[in-house]
Amino acid sequence: MSAPDIISLEPATGAEVWRGKPCDVDDVVARARRAWPAWAAQPLTTRMELMRRFANEVRKEADTLARTIAREVGKPLWEAHNEVEAVIAKVEISIRAYAERTSQRKLDSALQGKMALRHKPHGVLVVLGPFNYPCHLPGAHIVPALIAGNVIVFKPSEKAPASGELLARCFQRAGVSAAVMQFAPGGPGEGQRLVAHDGIDGVLFTGSAPTGIAINRKLATRPDKIVALEMGGNNAMVMWDTPKLADAAALIVQSAFATAGQRCTAARRLIVKASLYDQIVPLVKSLADRIIVGAPFDEPAPFMGPVIDNAAADGLSESFLYLMSHGGKAIKHLQRPEGTLPFLSPAIIDTTAMASRPDVELFGPILQVIKVDDFDQAIAEANNTRFGLAASLIGGTPQEYNRFWANMRAGIVNWNRATVGPSHAAPMGGIGLSGNHRPTGYYAADYCAYPVTSGEMEQPRAVIGVGLKS
Ligand code: NAD
Repeated sequence: MSAPDIISLEPATGAEVWRGKPCDVDDVVARARRAWPAWAAQPLTTRMELMRRFANEVRKEADTLARTIAREVGKPLWEAHNEVEAVIAKVEISIRAYAERTSQRKLDSALQGKMALRHKPHGVLVVLGPFNYPCHLPGAHIVPALIAGNVIVFKPSEKAPASGELLARCFQRAGVSAAVMQFAPGGPGEGQRLVAHDGIDGVLFTGSAPTGIAINRKLATRPDKIVALEMGGNNAMVMWDTPKLADAAALIVQSAFATAGQRCTAARRLIVKASLYDQIVPLVKSLADRIIVGAPFDEPAPFMGPVIDNAAADGLSESFLYLMSHGGKAIKHLQRPEGTLPFLSPAIIDTTAMASRPDVELFGPILQVIKVDDFDQAIAEANNTRFGLAASLIGGTPQEYNRFWANMRAGIVNWNRATVGPSHAAPMGGIGLSGNHRPTGYYAADYCAYPVTSGEMEQPRAVIGVGLKS
């Protein structure tokens, strides 16, 4: 019996965007293994040049790519264009990062003689992509991994294969063969089989914590395979004293509701000083009331599109009801104007009175508000999560920011900046359930190659000087 087709649907209309057969995992891995030696043997300068050509191909295809992303995952067109720009920018960042973090070095010492440090690629790496940034985030693994000399099996999210296929085509047009950067469509089943395949050398994953944990468990007895996990967050923003309340409200709304809350770094919890509550919460609500929710190509352009599908919208609606029935007080209800499509309005709920708040990532436009009395309580509340991706302090003094920075357990800690929109020119990743200490962005070079230390002399040289019978 042949496997069912992979089908992606346009969230804003329900129309079919892409349909195709899932990849044959054994074939894909075998092809990658055959391609690896020749790719790894290419001079580094050739691989870098091919990546620059890839950036040019993305530039040429920018409109088609942005339109496909917008259609397939529902984000507004302007935001899809930003994603394409990020794909292009990542190429120069990765080239610089490879040179700076994995460069060749001589470590000559009087004691040990000539030493050299060089790096080698792992081999065949599987890249598993999420739906919310279907080109930028897989690209953030693929480009550094190719530069380092690995070949790639790229399985895009089953919710965004059309975007993934276009990205793969840009590599091919640039001159990277379809065996070196293989497009391998499939769902979780193909993902599982790729992860378990003996012929791979590692998995570079971006997605949810439950999937990341499943991958980690699967490879727990395989220390020979590199595993980089970029996962979700239950991110906090702490609101403290500032005269700039309108700006603060804008940062909060941007952090909570950009991409309909479908960003790993989105603010899920707003922790507010009690004396500021009555000023800032109405400002945040009135700004959220003004958010245009619409289809990606609507005019005027929406701020938020739909969430990815009806299952996600159903889950978020249930989560909102759960919070309400367990002590949460709705400040702005989660509404779903068209029952058959996954458009959701931004929602705000005060969960201060809840006996226990579920520490899960609600991947959509729901912001919880929690009132606290002092700064220690604010930090404790912000850290009250197993995740550790992003946190921001809005307002506060430099001394308070120093305390916040020193005490927050997260990979991104900001001051008077949104939690979203981290720079890929810097390391990008989290701790706890957000990642396994292999941040991507500028540090991706680290997990794409391993260091090899070599003691090297042109002639054998004796080193045993004592303890021998004459
Ligand atoms: P997901 O975990 O559902 O899927 C991600 C990928 O894993 C998909 O390609 C999927 O097919 C595959 N997959 C699913 N189950 C698998 C399994 N058991 N074994 C192997 N592969 C499997 O994630 P999603 O819903 O597509 O993406 C949203 C999530 O990604 C959110 O949790 C978000 O926070 C996270 N995310 C993290 C970052 C980051 O940089 N930390 C960035 C973007 C998104």
